[in-house]
Amino acid sequence: MKWKEALKEMKPYKPGRSIEEVKDLYNLKEVVKLASNENPYGCASSVTEFLTSSSMPFQIYPDGHATNLRSKLAIKHSVDEASILFGNGSDEIISLISRALLDDNTHTIMPAPTFPQYAHNAKIEGADFIEIPLVDGLHDLNAFLSAVNERTAVIWICNPNNPTGNLIPSEELIEFLSKVPENILVVLDEAYFEYVTDPHHTDSIRLLDQFPNILVLRTFSKAYGLAAFRLGYAIGSPAIITELNKVRNPFNNNSLALAVANVALEDDGFIEECRQKNQVQRERYMAYASLNGLHVYDSQTNFVLMEVPMDADEASEFLLKKGFIVRSGNALGTPMHVRITIGTEEQNTGVFHAFDLLLKEKGR
Ligand SMILES: *Cc1c(COP(=O)(O)O)cnc(C)c1O
Repeated sequence: MKWKEALKEMKPYKPGRSIEEVKDLYNLKEVVKLASNENPYGCASSVTEFLTSSSMPFQIYPDGHATNLRSKLAIKHSVDEASILFGNGSDEIISLISRALLDDNTHTIMPAPTFPQYAHNAKIEGADFIEIPLVDGLHDLNAFLSAVNERTAVIWICNPNNPTGNLIPSEELIEFLSKVPENILVVLDEAYFEYVTDPHHTDSIRLLDQFPNILVLRTFSKAYGLAAFRLGYAIGSPAIITELNKVRNPFNNNSLALAVANVALEDDGFIEECRQKNQVQRERYMAYASLNGLHVYDSQTNFVLMEVPMDADEASEFLLKKGFIVRSGNALGTPMHVRITIGTEEQNTGVFHAFDLLLKEKGR
């Protein structure tokens, strides 16, 4: 077969361990998965009610235009309906952007460490890419500007960044955007937007008039608690959305996902409640880290990247045996740290107990 050259160096995505796997492996009754930043409170109860009570014509193709959801989101964000693109998760939107803009004649810029799909897709398209190291968990935006060349087609900004959780201060982001050439697409991946509590944060959708070359990515997978349905969306100028629509598969979102998101959008109260609970629990992690002299990044998300007093794989394995699945920093490009999704109060108390044992083992 004549595979793309780039694929030779690549590996398929390997999912983390599931709850059932870990239960069997260590003979545990209860296992808590805090590895993928899913919502520990589930989704809005109106969504579960909807799912048990409604039926749908399954023989009919989904609405490829996502008409109802589009109209609802346009109102929610005060944007034109033509400014919205839906994807099978924001994962798919990242690949659509790459497919439409990147090839072996182009160049793209991203932070490191960050969400791995930007580099993954750049590789598939054969684009040159440069990874700009974070500074204390923050994007080094001046270094991004210095890396721009005449072939740069896309700049990826993950805000707040996964896996560090840091939020770029709005003034810094705006200054950066004002210096980026207008013919470069700047992707603002805001998968954790709903968890941001910093009162100085500007909603970047409001920056679209000033900077028509930005594209804002949001998702139903994190705070909305609907990861299983695979639904993300992009908001940008209609001109950009039109180009991306050319590479989108016509029925990329299934009917059930569209219907469920419609119901979820009615329930702002649920999102608000999750944001508040998450903030309270996030503070507990900050306090725990500080009390134990462990470095932790300043998070505006529903996860924390916290130092461990040993190799991160070893620490993750230790926590796994105690019934907590977390992500080792080794796999994320942040050695000596683990990324823990902020769970419910009870789950986090369990994490702290397990962590106490881990620290004890290292004599701390
Ligand atoms: C989880 C995550 C996504 C993927 O979201 P989906 O909509 O589920 O594909 C995208 N970007 C970042 C930074 C994420 O953490």
